[in-house]
Amino acid sequence: MNLGNCPRCGKLYAKNLRDMCPVCIKEVDKQYELCAEYLRKNKGCTIHELSEATEVPMKQITRFIREGRISILNHPNMALACESCGTPIREGNLCMECRHRISRDFREVQKADQSRSASEGTYNTYSIDKQRE
Ligand SMILES: [Zn+2]
Ligand SMILES: [Zn+2]
Repeated sequence: MNLGNCPRCGKLYAKNLRDMCPVCIKEVDKQYELCAEYLRKNKGCTIHELSEATEVPMKQITRFIREGRISILNHPNMALACESCGTPIREGNLCMECRHRISRDFREVQKADQSRSASEGTYNTYSIDKQRE
């Protein structure tokens, strides 16, 4: 048996597929039921309204959506928040703008790395030449 600390409540528990202790699994399942029930009756609600009505934290609702347990496809006003800037998005972790910005930053970092290693290369050759003299 593989023991670990429950990431939700911190108690020691026997590891399982849900990555939570049995008490937390029950609580999360109850939270899910509340959300699912509310969503069935309130198709036009927002994620904030859902959180307020069910007292389920936004973070947990976001998690349900990311896990695919709650689908936002039938709820036009439900949205996830971009993890970088908080803009409402319909899927993934980042809005289009942040996704573009991050891939651009990434390319620039790569370019900078390449030019840095190129100049280091020159420096190394130079010092070797120096030593030879
Ligand atoms: Zn727990
Ligand atoms: Zn963003």
